[in-house]
Amino acid sequence: MAEFSLIERYFQRPSTSDVALGIGDDSAILIPPTGKQLVICADTMVAGRHFPLETDPHAIGWKCVAVNLSDIAAMGAKPHSILLALTLPQIDHDWLTRFSQGLFDCCDQFGVRLIGGDTTQGAQLTLSVTALGWQDIDQQVPRAGAQVGDLIVVSGQIGDAAFGLAHREHPLKHRLDYPTPRCELGLALAGVAHSMIDVSDGLAQDLGHILKASGVSARLYLEQLPIDKSLKSLPQEQQWQYALAGGDDYELCFTISPDAYNRLNNSSFDIKMTPIGEICAGTGIRYFYNNQEQQLQFTGYEHFASS
Ligand code: ADP
Ligand code: MG
Repeated sequence: MAEFSLIERYFQRPSTSDVALGIGDDSAILIPPTGKQLVICADTMVAGRHFPLETDPHAIGWKCVAVNLSDIAAMGAKPHSILLALTLPQIDHDWLTRFSQGLFDCCDQFGVRLIGGDTTQGAQLTLSVTALGWQDIDQQVPRAGAQVGDLIVVSGQIGDAAFGLAHREHPLKHRLDYPTPRCELGLALAGVAHSMIDVSDGLAQDLGHILKASGVSARLYLEQLPIDKSLKSLPQEQQWQYALAGGDDYELCFTISPDAYNRLNNSSFDIKMTPIGEICAGTGIRYFYNNQEQQLQFTGYEHFASS
């Protein structure tokens, strides 16, 4: 099958009115809405590294979109569209059918269109998605905005995906395969939260990025971590390891003034939010469990860690 009929068969859909030109020409065209800034990110997933080789292609399709929408959400922006650069070892129609269904299921759930991409043959199955979103000018929520006195809040539960990776028969494996980008929450935090990041490489490491960028420190209260009941029977240190150093959560971690948090909490959000600590002067993270300081060190996921 030629590359073009593959694209037509699996990736081309009828165009929608807010895309001036979609798949089929040398480039896609979007007309920026007045008063909006463009927010763009890209994330690549390599088979065997970012997902086990036997992962359901539907889940791979979902996840390669979801992780990018999570980055757009973490800026406080609304996702609009994606581009997909696909490297395939061979053409496998069953695989492509399941993969494209998963990809479009995620797109449809969050109102996002596929507007272009690239398709090549290569040794390693690799999926690189670029996501584009819009937001009101100067409404981004950066990593560098945390202020002393802010609450540190995390959405959903953390540690589920890492637990699912270690226990592949467990229902929490679903959280590894089908992360939910917190698009609605991210958007609601624009102009409200002081700083934000999505938790992809472990909370301790990702919160560390906020702290470093903002020149502040954190106190974390370990008894407040929102972890699944399945993790609660584990030894304490192991629970903390999953929650603070496990990757692939795709939850939002943000810092916010206590007043703004109370207002947000009183609004009708059905997503769980949990304050887990506070921003202080200084550097680094101090951990407390029932008021007792704990000496803990966590390292999150890093590529090229040994080079
Ligand atoms: P060019 O040779 O000009 O780079 P291509 O032949 O790579 O164009 O792609 C033709 C059209 O199909 C373009 O509009 C491109 O954006 C789109 N496209 C290619 N691969 C994909 C893909 N995997 N998903 C979505 N669109 C794709
Ligand atoms: Mg061209």
